[in-house]
Amino acid sequence: MSDTCLFCKIIRGEIPSTMVYEDDEFVAFKDIAPAAPIHLLLVPRQHIVSLQDVGPADREWLGRMMALVPQIAFDNGCEPGPAGGFRVVANSGAHGGQEVDHLHLHIMGGPRPWSARSIPNA
Ligand code: 5GP
Ligand code: ZN
Repeated sequence: MSDTCLFCKIIRGEIPSTMVYEDDEFVAFKDIAPAAPIHLLLVPRQHIVSLQDVGPADREWLGRMMALVPQIAFDNGCEPGPAGGFRVVANSGAHGGQEVDHLHLHIMGGPRPWSARSIPNA
């Protein structure tokens, strides 16, 4: 946990958010500035800055995180199958367009067209 991190504050409930999923390891909430009809952020409770900070020792929780994506996407309105689907984005570091320094997956879906920001911070 970080005292100053925005997503740690959201996880602790100090900043309001629209939570759509919670378990012991992860939370998911709606992005405050959606770039698609459905735009969620899936976040580990543990304060890890970005994908640059993970390695082979993290493969189990990372696998659990990735395996949650379809369930969370479909539970929140993404349509299954080839005509539906979703986009997953992980910005990492300044060159990757990361603005909040707590690892997160953007889960984006819903009918197109999407906003011009359909890749956050493209
Ligand atoms: P990044 O650019 O770090 O990959 O994405 C950070 C995301 O967090 C952005 O899409 C932005 O809209 C979202 N965001 C920033 N501040 C807040 C907030 O206070 N609440 C929520 N729910 N999302 C936020
Ligand atoms: Zn944090």
